[in-house]
Amino acid sequence: MAGGYERVNAHDEEDHGLSQPTPSSPPPSFHSRSSSPNSRRHQQVDSTLADAFDDDDDNTDDEFDDRQRHHFANPNADSVQRTARVMGGGGATDGVFANMSARPERQDAEKEEQPPTYEQAAADAVPPYWETTIFAPGMGGADEVYVDGLPVGSVFSFIWNGMISTSFQLVGFLLTYLLHSTHAAKNGSRAGLGITLIQYGFYMKADPVGDAPSNMGGQDGYAAPPDPNSHDFDEHEVTDGGDTLDFSGGDWLAYVLMIVGWFILIKSTVEYLKARRHEQLVLQTHDRGLGVPNCSLECIRLVLGHCAVRYGSDSNRALVDNLYEAGLIKSPIVKDAFLKVDRADYAPHNPYKDCPQSIGHSATISAPHMHASAIEYCLAYLSPDKERRVLDIGSGSGYLTHILAEMVGDKGTVVGLEHIRELRDLGERNAQKSARGRQLLEAGRIKFRHGDGRKGWVEDGKSDWDVIHVGASARILHEELLEQLKAPGCMFIPVDDEHGIDQSVWRIEKDAKGEITRQRLFGVRYVPLTDPPRGS
Ligand code: SAH
Repeated sequence: MAGGYERVNAHDEEDHGLSQPTPSSPPPSFHSRSSSPNSRRHQQVDSTLADAFDDDDDNTDDEFDDRQRHHFANPNADSVQRTARVMGGGGATDGVFANMSARPERQDAEKEEQPPTYEQAAADAVPPYWETTIFAPGMGGADEVYVDGLPVGSVFSFIWNGMISTSFQLVGFLLTYLLHSTHAAKNGSRAGLGITLIQYGFYMKADPVGDAPSNMGGQDGYAAPPDPNSHDFDEHEVTDGGDTLDFSGGDWLAYVLMIVGWFILIKSTVEYLKARRHEQLVLQTHDRGLGVPNCSLECIRLVLGHCAVRYGSDSNRALVDNLYEAGLIKSPIVKDAFLKVDRADYAPHNPYKDCPQSIGHSATISAPHMHASAIEYCLAYLSPDKERRVLDIGSGSGYLTHILAEMVGDKGTVVGLEHIRELRDLGERNAQKSARGRQLLEAGRIKFRHGDGRKGWVEDGKSDWDVIHVGASARILHEELLEQLKAPGCMFIPVDDEHGIDQSVWRIEKDAKGEITRQRLFGVRYVPLTDPPRGS
């Protein structure tokens, strides 16, 4: 069915030709949100979401409900009502349909589609303050925010550490710096070092040798006032002009120390303020008003356990096992593919945490659960039984490109397409880090290309793709991508909503006859699919 809304029966996954069922639950981030301040709306949303991802199989129902109970910790989760799934939902002016000739007609069914909540939209959040920011339970109470893996800490802690670092000078600095556990402590300690250096500079400048009273032989034992007519300089060294500024070596050192000290002091203060601002941004987002934690934390907490919120898993296997056990990777085939690719080759920091991370150029490597979800929604089209061609638009780190290549097997080809040349190169370099990656590159099973993904891609004279994965949020569903999707084929693409604020992932499926079905999966937050920055 092209265009219009459709109620999907209980076996629609089979209709799609999926050998593995479409994941019967929303992606983790999606699960993990209790979403609204209004409990009635909350329940509606949950109920719609539950239906949207449930395949009505009894066992799966139980699993789903168990997981939902786990995620929401909601004793009423069982009472979630079920309605038929709506496919191809979205408002009449939804961006995903904006350039399609076959627009869906407005029907009552569309009312069943709830607008995404803020929490859903933030599910795979990538704005800078979100990439490395999580809410952590425990230590600092519910509202403690982690920025770059460290709690922010209070102003008091900043000042206190600064004072210790200053008072005990280098020893104080070393102690406070080595023992710091917050941004406040770390930067306070550095600020203290800065002050210490400035002090040293002052001491050296105001050299006490010349100023100290040299003789205490005055009246009553007090220092004798200096004789105004005496001088202790060499008259031959006196010049008549001030035309040269005479700095001794000690003066220079003093100035250097002071400048370095000021630099350290200012930098550490600015860094602390930045971390605090970061914290404020996160705390001010309106989901905090609901008193529910950020989704990413929920996912991480669920996957890795409380301690792991801070420390993550310690190996790729542990990460993948945890994702699998938590139901964030559902298929053993997908699990095997994830095990073959070490995320440490692709993620610059904390590779074994289920978090998105910055890879530079305002791009991020998505959280592994998002990659898993993207693969599982198109699983049937990635089977290695025939020659598969996969296009990964916005390949970024190259991690997903590599995993997709493991999925499609020896006959398949995966093209990672990037519009930023440096990121295209980064993807290729990352793949070259492992013997397996090098082998795939040499065999031409992975190719990294530079180009604008909105226009699709032609490789080896062919422009038809079994699977198109788009790793950045499109303003509209680009016609070129639809055309390049094979019949049958499957596309996973985040698309902005009509206001350009929220985004949703859509699963677009073309059947063998070329008929297109669109299914809105869940809200996300991806970087935009845009023009390349200048010079790329
Ligand atoms: N999936 C990747 C990266 C996701 S970030 C990973 O997980 O590592 C999204 C990527 O899309 C960025 O690298 C960005 O440069 C790229 N991108 C954005 N607009 C694009 C366009 N028009 N064409 C190709 N790539 C684009």
